[in-house]
Amino acid sequence: MRTKNIITVDWEDWFHICEVEDYLPREKWDDYPSILPEATKILLQFFKTHNISATFFILGYSATRFPKLVEEISKAGHELAYHTANHSLVYTQEPHGFREDIRWGKQLLEEIGKQPVLGFRAPQWSLNDRCPWGLDCLTEAGYTYDSSHAPLPIIGTPSYPESVHDLKTSQGALQEFPPLILNLLGLKVPAGGGWGLRTWPIRAIRHKIARLNGMDSPATLFIHPVEVIDFTPPLRLPFLKRLVTRFGRRTTLFTIKALLATTDFISISQYRNQIQ
Ligand SMILES: [Zn+2]
Repeated sequence: MRTKNIITVDWEDWFHICEVEDYLPREKWDDYPSILPEATKILLQFFKTHNISATFFILGYSATRFPKLVEEISKAGHELAYHTANHSLVYTQEPHGFREDIRWGKQLLEEIGKQPVLGFRAPQWSLNDRCPWGLDCLTEAGYTYDSSHAPLPIIGTPSYPESVHDLKTSQGALQEFPPLILNLLGLKVPAGGGWGLRTWPIRAIRHKIARLNGMDSPATLFIHPVEVIDFTPPLRLPFLKRLVTRFGRRTTLFTIKALLATTDFISISQYRNQIQ
């Protein structure tokens, strides 16, 4: 039997990059051209061609700018989950502000998509040990799973589990879907999406997915809309951000397509329904 792994999209625009607020200030966002209409069309066509239902972690800002696109994503059979209103790092927020944000976003997406919204992913995996209250906020607001704990140095915590697992919160369990990572020469590196998925040999990624599947866990992959179109941002970003965002590289969907030779991709809700 073919294995089933998880495919997700962080549905946000090219200018939603953490820690460059000086270059891309919030008050300028409405003036920037959006890649979402074109990139969403490409993503929906790709998923339709390969008969895939994905989980879209939707940014609140982009949902209010393009509600019709969110409706289209939902009508195409994909799951909607939440990715904060303004792409702020969770650990920089106060608990009450975060609580309001995730309640607002859940309601917004449920109204547009006409489906229950049960999942959350923090921008840059920023719901971590620096803000342990965040998990309680999620279950209090009615979320039942999270995908923000990266088992990585710097942007996460290397000792986090690599497979799907339950976390305890004040309101009960929250299921955690960590992003795929690789262990290279004793170093943990990102591999589930972004520059990691574009950089490491597909053999190494396939091998790691098989190892997780052998432990009865799916691997969780993620795509950013900016990775599926040719696009050059209208302003120059700092060197390190340019390096990791690598606009205009369209190799992500080729990699996903190559992985389809050995596995099926499903949404998080499909995975959770199948194991219940
Ligand atoms: Zn994001």
